[in-house]
Amino acid sequence: MKANRWNPLTICLIFVAALAARAASESPAPPKLRLSGEVRPVGYTAELTVVPERDTFNGAVTIDLQFARRASFLWLHGHGLTVTNAYLQQDGRQISATALAGGEEFLGFKFEHSVASGKARLRISYSGAMSDKDFSGLFRRQQGGQWYAATQMEATWARRVFPCFDEPAFKVPWRLTLHVKQEHTALANTTAVSETNEPAGMKCVRFAVTRPLPSYLLAVVVGPFERLDLGTAGRKNTPVRIFAPRGRAAEAAFASGAIPDLLRRLEDYYGIPYPYEKLDQVAVPQFPGAMENAGLIIYDETILLSPPARETIEFKRGCADVCTHEMAHQWFGDLVTMAWWDDIWLNEAFATWITPKIVDAWKPEWRANLDQSLATIGAANADSLVNARRIRQPIQTQVDIDNAFDGITYSKGAAVLGMFESWIGKETFRKGIQAYLKRHAWENATTTDFLKSLNQAARQDIASAFSTFLDQPGIPLVSAEVQDAAGASPGLLLSQRRYLPVGSSGDPQGSWRVPLRLRYQSGGREKQIGRLMVDRQENMLLKTEPPGLEWLLLNRDGAGYYVVAYRGDLLRKLLQLDAQCLSPAERISIVHSLTASVRSGDILLGEALPLHAKLLRDSERRVVTLAAGALERAREIVPEELMPNYRHFVRATLDPLLKDASWQTPPGETEDARLQRLSLLALSARKGEDSRLIEEAKRFALAWLADRQALAPDAADAVLEVAAQYADGALFDKLLSEAKSAQDPSDRQRLIRALGACNDLALAQRALEALAAREFPAVDSIALLQALSSRIETRSQTYDYLKRHYDAVVAALPGELFFWYLPMLAWRFDEPEWREDVNAFFKGKPVELTGGPRILAQVSESIALNHAFKQAQQRSLAEFLKTQ
Ligand SMILES: [Zn+2]
Repeated sequence: MKANRWNPLTICLIFVAALAARAASESPAPPKLRLSGEVRPVGYTAELTVVPERDTFNGAVTIDLQFARRASFLWLHGHGLTVTNAYLQQDGRQISATALAGGEEFLGFKFEHSVASGKARLRISYSGAMSDKDFSGLFRRQQGGQWYAATQMEATWARRVFPCFDEPAFKVPWRLTLHVKQEHTALANTTAVSETNEPAGMKCVRFAVTRPLPSYLLAVVVGPFERLDLGTAGRKNTPVRIFAPRGRAAEAAFASGAIPDLLRRLEDYYGIPYPYEKLDQVAVPQFPGAMENAGLIIYDETILLSPPARETIEFKRGCADVCTHEMAHQWFGDLVTMAWWDDIWLNEAFATWITPKIVDAWKPEWRANLDQSLATIGAANADSLVNARRIRQPIQTQVDIDNAFDGITYSKGAAVLGMFESWIGKETFRKGIQAYLKRHAWENATTTDFLKSLNQAARQDIASAFSTFLDQPGIPLVSAEVQDAAGASPGLLLSQRRYLPVGSSGDPQGSWRVPLRLRYQSGGREKQIGRLMVDRQENMLLKTEPPGLEWLLLNRDGAGYYVVAYRGDLLRKLLQLDAQCLSPAERISIVHSLTASVRSGDILLGEALPLHAKLLRDSERRVVTLAAGALERAREIVPEELMPNYRHFVRATLDPLLKDASWQTPPGETEDARLQRLSLLALSARKGEDSRLIEEAKRFALAWLADRQALAPDAADAVLEVAAQYADGALFDKLLSEAKSAQDPSDRQRLIRALGACNDLALAQRALEALAAREFPAVDSIALLQALSSRIETRSQTYDYLKRHYDAVVAALPGELFFWYLPMLAWRFDEPEWREDVNAFFKGKPVELTGGPRILAQVSESIALNHAFKQAQQRSLAEFLKTQ
């Protein structure tokens, strides 16, 4: 572990405290990020009055405090709250307190008399806002004429609901009371202990005191929800319930079958019963994701609900994944909480890593672990940027907290966990995890604590190797070169450096302690070796028999977080190998080696494409997905005059695989075969412009618009996208009108995504105008922008529209958290002038407040890399296409 970096904020806080002591009559400047810790909360008692029809709420909070020293001023976190009354009680004395705003994130309380060290109790009455668009703090949504309210506190939004110590290390019990309409359901982290009617049609619901919780895990839900009791589950017979918006409880059928089983499997892995007294899962309209609030998990409705007859494969797998992820947090994050946001990977990487393990045990045929392998490749790409975060990036500003919830934290973190799990063995790793959770239950912990538990379980130093992946950015590139291949003991020269794409300005001199697991075959016999690579260059001897080395694989089980550069003919041998010799995860890692080598310019695209075309025949769907992705991405740099050749190449490659396949499901088709068929059909239609498939898609889309039964649910996404891509005005009108009026939220989302696929610029313009006119729910606007900006046909237009209608587009987004997303619309540009344009346009815009500076730097870098890639690979691609 590296020592914590010097933190200038500490100095600021000391300075602030000194000012407060010297001049009690003056208000000190607010802290920059963190509270001083000189006053700590011991527990909260909070009451909220929540009527979802209103856009404000009222609150009263009593905080039991412990003052380390005499004070006349106290800073708490608070955002957008209007304090109406505040006073402090100490030793029977009541001291009035004046509230002062401290910038955006703090509320100050100036006491009439100074407060002695020791215990005191602060009482604050206040009001706050409930947005119908934003989802930070306490928010509200309308559906079917009914209003619902719910909360999202992570990362730093509890301060929008309560004046509080809004940092994860302040982990204390909370006692909540809600005042709501008598006909409404009111939920919080614990069970209700009493419910009494109040005047004006209201009722008071009191909840049991919570176990110690950080503010970011508090949750409240209010509205006309329907309840589905799942009975009890797990070792302690925990009551499990699902809540759905009115009239939709039947749509929780799949989730209700999955959740109890997944919960039991999590308990078995952790060796600790589910930690809380109840487990509620709530589907909320228009919520971008899911949140692991202790005992009260909140999901977007499309994750948890689907009409049973219209469940898609994607829905079922997504639902099981997200439910497992959020339930896994009840231990990793809730029971044991990271002490500060620099260790958020202890929550997110763990929940991401354990999800496929649990889902695989429940539904082995889904092979969820292979989806994780694809996510790892996505993270590896992000990690190749000079501006990539580290898994443990120091947190010095609010923006650093916003940035921390990225693919590096989730997927790279999960991949690194998986690598060390396979290195020390599954059972040893599990022992380390169980010891860590037991040792720090109900408390906070750090990476150091976790690595200590792992070292003890493994009886060896794992931490020093682990830390090389946590505390520096980048993915190692391990090169393997066989020397003296004909000899009896050929040498294997291994070298490591940072993987960088062509055109990168990054320093390749990174150094990791890489747990290498390799296997090779000679004389028909396989040998396996594990080796911790420590130096930049290492030699090892292979034991071979005549006629020599047959093949060598450097990333056994695909479990390592590194890219392999196979030198000489090693890669060719692996690609020619009978697929049975390699596991699907290993074949995925080999395709990753190939795509990474193309990206770094070490293999020419024109030489790689025929290899990818061959890989489309692999028996593993994810290998096909990667190969198809390579074909699709090549489109980005096809010279215009060679587009007919490109289309011909795509069709000629796919036609033999698709034969007479259509959008209709053939009898007896497996789920994996269906997913593969639909994705290849879509590729042939979208990139190969297969007119038969396009016309068929348009017909099916029209039929689906009239009758949802006209098309298998799994085919709807691909069919609508292809139809929209080639839509004329009449079809587009129908899709747009249905997107605005669709009752089923999943249908609405797929229609909006489809609108983002249209090629016609005039139609794309209309989609953007509908977005800016706020004709779609804010949460879906992101998906539309993402779809339009991902396509070469509509990319410039989308960015241009954003520039000309910036305020309207921003107003259509679900709040400031998504401002950082806007520069991402320029991610795929590949001409240098766009870099200047993007940087100039976003300068001074609010994106800079919400993670924007790093995102802007990443976008700028990405544009430069795209340009370099085009320079490096376009000629080779053109030469290849000319032969097609
Ligand atoms: Zn999570």
